[in-house]
Amino acid sequence: MGNSTERKGGVRLGCIADDFTGATDLANNLVRAGMRVVQTIGVPGAPLDAQADAVVVALKSRTIAPAEAVAQSLAALQWLKEQGAEQIYFKYCSTFDSTPEGNIGPVTDALMQALGTGFTVATPAFPDNKRTVFKGYLFAGDVLLNESGMQDHPLTPMTDPNLVRVLQAQTQKKVGLVDYQTIAQGADAVRARFAALQAEGVGIAIVDALANADLVTLGAALKGMPLVTAGSGVAIGLPANFGIAPDSQAAALPAAEGRQAVVSGSCSVATNQQVAEFIATGRPALAIDPLRIAEGADVRGEALAWAKDKLASGPVLVYSTAEPASVRAIQGRLGVEKAGAMVEETIAGIARGLVELGVRQLVVAGGETSGACVQALEIAQMRIGAQIDPGVPWCHALSPAAPQGLHITLKSGNFGTPDFFTKAFAKR
Ligand code: ADP
Repeated sequence: MGNSTERKGGVRLGCIADDFTGATDLANNLVRAGMRVVQTIGVPGAPLDAQADAVVVALKSRTIAPAEAVAQSLAALQWLKEQGAEQIYFKYCSTFDSTPEGNIGPVTDALMQALGTGFTVATPAFPDNKRTVFKGYLFAGDVLLNESGMQDHPLTPMTDPNLVRVLQAQTQKKVGLVDYQTIAQGADAVRARFAALQAEGVGIAIVDALANADLVTLGAALKGMPLVTAGSGVAIGLPANFGIAPDSQAAALPAAEGRQAVVSGSCSVATNQQVAEFIATGRPALAIDPLRIAEGADVRGEALAWAKDKLASGPVLVYSTAEPASVRAIQGRLGVEKAGAMVEETIAGIARGLVELGVRQLVVAGGETSGACVQALEIAQMRIGAQIDPGVPWCHALSPAAPQGLHITLKSGNFGTPDFFTKAFAKR
């Protein structure tokens, strides 16, 4: 493939993701497969503001009421069609996270109806992440889904590993299976199986996949299918259908410049290590005390005054990251929700203030914290760049606080190596 900056044409693949970090995971796979990708936060009120081969609309629809998930997904579909998307990809979790009511089934049914199509596939397989499907049974690592810990998930307990049964309980359509023997025979055999299933009245086919090569076979068989539903794995097999091959230019972002900062509201094990490692390098780091926020102190103002002069000499870190015992003590005094919301709001306010002080390269640690920071920065669309560590790419986004744009990376929980906070700035 030639230089993709010269590649013309509009949006080929329009994606609807049922949560934010899942959207980034999908976007990251598409970039690695050679597509230029923009991720939007919710359904944008305006047209796409950049050239892209794929757009991923990030919703937060995994566990909301099915009717609401359907409404949001249809709004995303409408917007993606207006941007010219040729094929639609409904992305859910690789552990098929859903409740008995949905939302994978109801959203798939609604998208099929809106697209006027009678057949689609469903597979969360992603062998790179140890998610494989065999005879319709989903494995997480070496065990079946219902033995993987997912049976105890607080919101979406998965007690049945048989995806044909799980999906059948959520959809009006008849669910069938394209099993491994067919996949092993290649894309033509898969297409023939699709036709046979359709003749039997099947509307959605679960597809087996044990290795990346199976996803590439499946990808070829999906050429021209109006709707694909899957985890993020199937994305590796689709760009080739549009004549797109892996190309480092797909990850190209504008040159990174400006001041550098890290804000961290994650208390995960990996983030605690990353904070310790950053401090050990001797760089400036400021701890936020949740109790002082609760007392009404101007923690945001103090943090920005502290950072102001230091930013000129290199990256600074502002963090509420703490060890589990300390987090429990704070939660005991303030309540879990109140502590979380208060800290998120303060860190997001600090992130905004840092950008107003000239920060143009911002690392955010924490999934919920990232959501709060993106909101405070009023970011609506992000172009996805190269990954710093698996699943964590640099992005470029416009914000009223940085009209020319800023580089931002959103690292949830346990992602990233211990030196992530310093390595990120070397990899932009
Ligand atoms: P992760 O991706 O590691 O789960 P999140 O940002 O999603 O990180 O969640 C961390 C939660 O903990 C947030 O709601 C954050 O505001 C809260 N939090 C951060 N620091 C503290 C602290 N010191 N005490 C109590 N809660 C905290």
